Amino acid sequence: MKILQLLFKNVRNNSFFKQTWKESKSIVDSIFGCSSKKNTINRNFINDFAEFLEKKNGMSKGGAIAEDTEEMILPILENSSPKTMNLLHSTIKKMDLEISDGIPFELLEQEARSIKFKKAKSIEEATQYAKEQLGINRFEVPDIETANQINYSLTKAFNKTEGAIKGFDEVEYVALGKNSKGLDPSRCPAETHAVFKDQKVKKTVLRINKTFFENIDKSINDELTMLEEHGQISKNKLGNNIIRLVADYRYSNTLNRYYRLYQQGKLTQKAKVDFDSLLHNAMEEERYVLSNKTSTCNIIKEYLGIDISHLSGKEYITKAKQGLLELQDNHNIIACARENPLKQNGAVGLDGYILHEQGHSDCFKRMSYNKLKSPHKFSDEEAHIAREVSEYAPFDSSEFLQETFAGLMSGDKYSSPTMSLYFKNGGLYT
Ligand SMILES: [Zn+2]
Repeated sequence: MKILQLLFKNVRNNSFFKQTWKESKSIVDSIFGCSSKKNTINRNFINDFAEFLEKKNGMSKGGAIAEDTEEMILPILENSSPKTMNLLHSTIKKMDLEISDGIPFELLEQEARSIKFKKAKSIEEATQYAKEQLGINRFEVPDIETANQINYSLTKAFNKTEGAIKGFDEVEYVALGKNSKGLDPSRCPAETHAVFKDQKVKKTVLRINKTFFENIDKSINDELTMLEEHGQISKNKLGNNIIRLVADYRYSNTLNRYYRLYQQGKLTQKAKVDFDSLLHNAMEEERYVLSNKTSTCNIIKEYLGIDISHLSGKEYITKAKQGLLELQDNHNIIACARENPLKQNGAVGLDGYILHEQGHSDCFKRMSYNKLKSPHKFSDEEAHIAREVSEYAPFDSSEFLQETFAGLMSGDKYSSPTMSLYFKNGGLYT
């Protein structure tokens, strides 16, 4: 009993643990033997908690818990959140070791907020990590590098949100069909599948798209061909092919490092996914520069004396790219895509894709069914704001939230209109 009191005190005395009654209720249901399973971290906790009670007090798991214990548990659960659950989880573990002196709260708080990522050496190890640390019940990823990246990215999201993010119940590697948004399945790296019952989410599944992985060479080659057509592949002093971007891009050196390894046949499947993503992001930056036609035409006219403002479509793109490359060579001028210097394009590669999907899982678990079924279509003005985040972000409120979430988790900072739009549409984490 003393143990429970201490546990209770530790949690109740700290005001940052706030959660809705609804969630607490489902945990209570689970503890008292009902089948309601909502949050994986909670579920782990409940098992441990039940075992703990059994061991310490001779109570039977999921069955009759003495009334006085119930009285003590309920207030804790009223304040429960995944963060709290994580705290309790570690509290219980520690209590077995050093119960007599109590536990310094700061230590627990710190521990509850972060999971230490450990790179797995085998699929079994990665699966075990996903289960034990992230509460993922089923983790079926055949490639170790991909498995490690998934665990790493999900851990990052957990730690950055101080354990508040609502994670996946399952992770699988499957060939995706056409998705609800009608996008080409071979161009979709991953999706979040939510299973509903009575308009409530039962579980979320992260599906890594096998088809996307298998088509990665084609996707890379398509981009490289296009770059070549625009005169953006040239030889450097050492005689190696390099990619020349017309716009300033944060990862242009990394991009070329990947490109070199790709040509040497040294990229693994997962590294190819990252390279492909870098290529796409770089192209996105270029499109952003070119879409600002007035300033692109003006600077070319000013320095090169060529007027291309009457051109459009492919012709405009080809001439504008030629001009911008010449500006770099002869005038040391590099076109900058962004007005916002804080936008870093941090979310790239498989990491960026997983963070985006993690955002979906979280929304599925905390937003109303109606909101999930019909995301808000942006007005022209809102779409313009969302465009700061990425090319895909203006698609609708749901995609905007996830694109922004992935960026924020990767260290990007957005302007205040973008952040207002994020909060207005239900964004929580920064
Ligand atoms: Zn999405």
